[in-house]
Parts: sequence; structure tokens; C-alpha cells
Amino acid sequence: MAATLGRPAAGRAAGPTARIDCTALSHNLRVVRARTGESRVLAVVKADAYGHGAVRAARAFAAADGLAVARVDEALALRRAGIGGTLLVLGGFGDREALDRLAAEGVDTVVHAPGQIELLRARAAGPPVRVWVKVDTGMHRLGFPPADFSGVWRELAALPGVARPLHAMSHFASADEPGGGASPEQIARFDEALASVAETPPVSLANSAGVLAVPAAHRDWVRPGVMLYGASPMPGGRGHDHGLRPAMTLSAPLVTVKTIERGAAVGYGGTWATPEKMPLGIAAIGYADGYPRHLPSGTPVLVNGRRAALAGRVSMDLIAIDLRGCPDARPGDPVTLWGDGLTVEEIAEAAGTIAYELLARLGPRVERIAG
Ligand SMILES: *Cc1c(COP(=O)(O)O)cnc(C)c1O
Repeated sequence: MAATLGRPAAGRAAGPTARIDCTALSHNLRVVRARTGESRVLAVVKADAYGHGAVRAARAFAAADGLAVARVDEALALRRAGIGGTLLVLGGFGDREALDRLAAEGVDTVVHAPGQIELLRARAAGPPVRVWVKVDTGMHRLGFPPADFSGVWRELAALPGVARPLHAMSHFASADEPGGGASPEQIARFDEALASVAETPPVSLANSAGVLAVPAAHRDWVRPGVMLYGASPMPGGRGHDHGLRPAMTLSAPLVTVKTIERGAAVGYGGTWATPEKMPLGIAAIGYADGYPRHLPSGTPVLVNGRRAALAGRVSMDLIAIDLRGCPDARPGDPVTLWGDGLTVEEIAEAAGTIAYELLARLGPRVERIAG
């Protein structure tokens, strides 16, 4: 759609844009490095790099030691775009075909369930695949129980289709809580499982919250995601608290500015009414673009660098803005929904969610621009 609609003659965007600052992405990677010392970094670019564009982000993270995605298709798309190097599929493969494709493309895979071992065993030929054995240390999502670890390890180590060395990993359920939540117990279970095998494999535990709050989890490989995009994973936190820079600025143009009489109900359901005769702006963004419908009236936006407030319900394609603090606002002026000068964390809190969801749910109509 966006492509056929084209750009207006004046060169201004007709709809919402997400400006992606690649220097912020590489800056944030350096922040991870400064925190984690000798640990190697797998930059997580799943979900289209949390909405930032996976290929663009992969290039901006060229200085990382590798990349990670959630699904096989995401990994294959990166390979098709010419992205080489270490690339891990966090969700692993589910069938023989996916396994063969990962092996052919030199993509690493997580192994977390017995069925995957069967598929590896049944694979007679082809290049060996690099495997990260996942231990469930308390999240109860993916992974083998610690008690099964040594058996799984021995089985995998005996398979010719599995590359050496094997890697081991786990994932934290609550590293964003004070004191790292249950992470110390999870680390203890992980180390106990590791002690049941003879070798000392390379290991990975830490997501962004682990990078920031659980230094004991840094180990051989860290796996930061959200912090690379400039957002804090900590409740109530802000990226700039950690020296991070927001990589995405979401904005949308004002399509009209008007003066409305006092007591006029604005938007669907008329949930907000003008307290006085006042200027109202309408901007071209809505919940179909990923701006949450349940944001309340009063949620901040920036108009020409000044704070203004959402007025009434977010509709599919449009929002209304109380422009009383912005008398100079004109049609075509950009409204910032989050990014430079307005943190995505603040907007996520207003929506009752986390920055991850807002970034990852940005809609396909939003034009991504490098800048
Ligand atoms: C998404 C994900 C990460 C990155 O998490 P952040 O909280 O964004 O840093 C790391 N590891 C696994 C297994 C993941 O699924």
C-alpha cells in the first residue's frame, strides 16, 4: 500500500515514519561491550529487529560477534540479504527440512526438546550444524530439565551431524526485578547441570536485563535485544539511565489544525471534550500503525519539540491532539509519538505495556527511513 500511495509533492511524508538512527544502534552495542568486557555479543534482531528493520540493524551491528533471531525464516531471510557470520535461531528447528536449511546456510540452532535430537540423529548426511543446548533453569518455557542435561549432552556429542564444541544456554525469567529476581537461583541450577558433563563448554545466559543487572551472568556470550534499540528492560527504567540512545523516532504529520468551540466531544465515543475554545490537531497515525488504541487522553506527544497531549480515543488511522501549548503548529508539522525527546518507555507505561511491545508491533504502513 505505502508504495502505491507514493509521497506528496511537497516531499513531506503523508503518513507515519519511523526514523532509524543507525549510529544509535552501534552506540548501544558499544554500551553493551563496555558493560560485559570479554563476553562475546549475540545481537538479537528477532521480530524485524524489534521493528527497526532486521537487515539494517544486522549491518549496524557488524561489530557484534553474532546475531540471533527467533525463527528459522528470520535467519534464512538474513542470509538471503547477504548477512554472514554467526547467526543463532533461538527457537530452533521443528522439522527435518528446517534443520537441513539451517545446516546448509551455516546457521546455529538451539536444541531444547527430545524431538530435535531425534531429527539430528536421523540426519545421515550434510554439513554439521552448530548446536546450543538449552537448559530450563526455571522459566519453564523452552529447554531440557537440568536433570536430563548430561544425558542430552552425551547423546548430542556422539552425533556426527553436530558440530563441536557444543554450546550451552539458559534464559532468565525475572532478571529485570530487584537483585536480578530469580536469576541467582537459575544460575546455580545451570552451573549444577554443567558440572554433570566432563567438558567446560561456551555458555550464554544474559538478555538485556542480565547484561545490566546480573554481572555474574555475562559468561562467554551475552544476548541483548531491547537495550540495543535504546530502551531499558527495567521496570520504570529509561534507556538514557544506562547511556543508551533511542534508535527509533516515530512521527506522523499533522493533517489538519482547527479551532474547536468549548465543550465539543472529540473522537469515537466522545470520551474527551474541549475544556475551552482551543486549537486541535489531527495527525496521521492510528492503532493500525501500532500506536496503541488504549492510550489515554493526556498521553504526551511532541509537536515542534513541545509537549502536547493526546485528546480522545486513538482511531485506526488518526489521532487528535490538544494544541493549546503549541500555537504555532501547522498542517504538515511532524508530531513525535516516541523517540528523540520522548521515551518509548514512557508511552509504553501509559499504554500499560512494555517498550518491547510498542517497538515490535509497529505496523507495516509505517515507513522506515534510515537517518
Ligand atoms: C528475545 C530474547 C533475548 C533478548 O531479550 P531482551 O530482553 O530484548 O534483551 C535473549 N534471549 C532469548 C532466548 C530471547 O528470546
